[in-house]
Amino acid sequence: MSSDTEYQKLRSHLAFLRMGAAAEALPGLLDEATKASSKLTHQRFLEQLLAVEVAATEERRKASLARFASLPSPFTLAEFDFSAQPKLDPKLIAELASLRFVEDATNVLFIGPPGVGKTMLAVGLGHAAVAAGMRVYYTTAAELVARCHRAALEGRWATTMRFYAGPKILIVDEVGYLPLPAEGASALFQVVSQRYLKGSIVLTTNLGIAGWGKVFGDDQMVAGALLDRLLHRSVVINIEGDSYRMRSHRARAEAARKAVAHP
Ligand code: ADP
Ligand code: MG
Repeated sequence: MSSDTEYQKLRSHLAFLRMGAAAEALPGLLDEATKASSKLTHQRFLEQLLAVEVAATEERRKASLARFASLPSPFTLAEFDFSAQPKLDPKLIAELASLRFVEDATNVLFIGPPGVGKTMLAVGLGHAAVAAGMRVYYTTAAELVARCHRAALEGRWATTMRFYAGPKILIVDEVGYLPLPAEGASALFQVVSQRYLKGSIVLTTNLGIAGWGKVFGDDQMVAGALLDRLLHRSVVINIEGDSYRMRSHRARAEAARKAVAHP
């Protein structure tokens, strides 16, 4: 077989196996290998060719995980300013960032008033998990409830429940901002129950645990059962303090005032 035919066959094998990145790297690597000075062994040649494909596949996988995760902002944990939350222990957040909590399906609850960085921390954990190759999905409580409502109407309840059971980490943002209709509370309860001891939930809420009855239309039974499952294995982080937005707004206003007072 001529070397041209061999080359064509090799290209067509790579195309058949959908190894596009390896196919693209092939001419360059072959050039390198056939140089008189080349020390490329057969083994090393094959390893390098496959390494190109492995890297490309890995990259595609990460990109697809990142798209699937639907994280609403690019914030990472590294950008979190701990000086704004002196009571929040950076070691605790670092421990969470190690993602060990995912191994035994521990839940993480961020509780605090608006603007203190709950979403940022949840999203930052989400990005860390995606970078580690985990399947993550972000939703707000309102979106989750609306989606379950549609699913019930369209006969896709079981599929939708499987969807929420799937990811290693389900982020449910903004629980408690809007009161949930009884049907919504029951949807959230089912999602939490399904994931119980199987997959982590990272949840943010503006309500202290005692206030949860209200979100569930004062259905203490559902609220209690849901909290039982959510808290059984969990890390609860209460964030107090000023809204970061207000803080930076205040700092800007202060700077502007000073500039005006001492031009
Ligand atoms: P919450 O979800 O608690 O209402 P967010 O996470 O949405 O608050 O934070 C509000 C805004 O303030 C965001 O733009 C966020 O990036 C920023 N922010 C809040 N806390 C911090 C912090 N400690 N360091 C840096 N940015 C912060
Ligand atoms: Mg938020």
